[in-house]
Parts: sequence; C-alpha cells; structure tokens
Amino acid sequence: MRTVLLGAPGSGKGTQGVVLSKKYDIPQISTGDLLRAAVTEGSELGKQAKAAMDAGALVSDEIVIGLIRERISHDDATNGYILDGFPRNIPQAKALDTMLEELNQPLQGVVLLDVAFEELLQRLTGRRTCKDCGAIYNVHLSPPQREDECDSCHGPLFQRADDNAETIGNRLNVYQEQTAPLVEFYQSQNKLHSIAGVGHVDAITDAVCAAFDTI
Ligand code: AMP
Repeated sequence: MRTVLLGAPGSGKGTQGVVLSKKYDIPQISTGDLLRAAVTEGSELGKQAKAAMDAGALVSDEIVIGLIRERISHDDATNGYILDGFPRNIPQAKALDTMLEELNQPLQGVVLLDVAFEELLQRLTGRRTCKDCGAIYNVHLSPPQREDECDSCHGPLFQRADDNAETIGNRLNVYQEQTAPLVEFYQSQNKLHSIAGVGHVDAITDAVCAAFDTI
C-alpha cells in the first residue's frame, strides 16, 4: 500500500502515521524525521538542511527527493509505505510520480488530515515529544501526567526547535502557499481521501483506517 499522509504541520500526520504503520505493517517515512536525524548526526546533508529547517522554510527538493528515493528502496518498504511530510510542493509530487512510474509502482492513495488554522497554532505551540520513544503530547490539549515526562516510557519530553512562535508562522505560510495546492493535484488524480482531523485521536484513526481500507 503506497500512500501519502497529507496535512499542515500539527495536523496529526506523525501521530496517525505511527498507528497506521503498526496496523498495516508498512513503514512511516517522514522526511522531517530523516532530516532531523541528519542534523543530529552532523552529516553534510544535515548541515545543508539545518538553516532552512530552523527558519521553517523548505529544504531543497533535491535533498528530500534523494532521501525518499533511497528510503523507499529499503526491504521494509517492499509492501508499501506511508509518506509523512513528503511531498510538500508540486515539483516534489511530480518527481515522486516519475520515480514511482519508473519502478512501475504508482502511488495508490493520499489521505488529507484537514484541520483549521487556529487549532493548528494551539497544537504546534503546545507540542512536546518524548526523546526516547517519540510519543507526542500537547501541554494544552493532551498533557502528560507528569510535567515533561512521558507517560508510557518515562523518557524526557522536549519541544522541537522549530515549534516556536515565529517558525510556526512561517511553516503554516509555507503550507498554505506550497503544500495546499497538492490537494487539487491529488484530487485530479482521484487519489485524495479527505478526513476531518479534529476530535478524539482514536476516532480520527478509525476514519483514516476506513479510508486506507479502500486504497
Ligand atoms: P516536519 O517534521 O514534517 O514538520 O518537517 C520539519 C522541517 O523539515 C520542515 O519545516 C522543513 O524545513 C523540512 N522538511 C520536511 N519535509 C520536507 C519536504 N518534503 N520538503 C522540504 N523540506 C522538508
């Protein structure tokens, strides 16, 4: 099942991707996670990506397309994958289509998590992530039982460097200008399933799974 989870920063792609990956036994491939790992490692690619990430801008298409090309060639992606945070603009979507056409394995479905702007702001400013297991909390909406500690593994929680007010504004603008046009792009390919990404997490998961089951 070759799929894309589409949505603004804070729409829940990461949260839903973890659950979907387990349920359908296919990897969640997040360009944001791959880039953050490269930054932490201090690799050449990480150094090139860091300034754009800190500013909430997009990293070059060349870098992220290269990352995706390499990652989907791994054995665990043979039966499909959930792309999270990629593509982020029309050129990336076209490059993905070309890449997958060459492999004779076209994209099968795209699920959009639709969330209003005000809610996104609240989610992004309150987001905290567990350093050890990656669980995601929100200090306003779904706080951990103990401040700054993961409920499930007791690891420390941190705030992503790009989850600050200024960068969040830039990221949401970039989404509006560059990523939102993908909705029409995939609609015209008859691949888009739109889900209201608000309400209880489990109910959203059920709706996303119902869409995945038709893909
Ligand atoms: P995310 O974790 O998906 O919110 O991504 C964090 C940051 O990584 C973004 O704000 C961009 O700077 C960069 N990034 C992630 N995915 C892409 C992509 N497909 N194209 C360009 N930049 C990306």
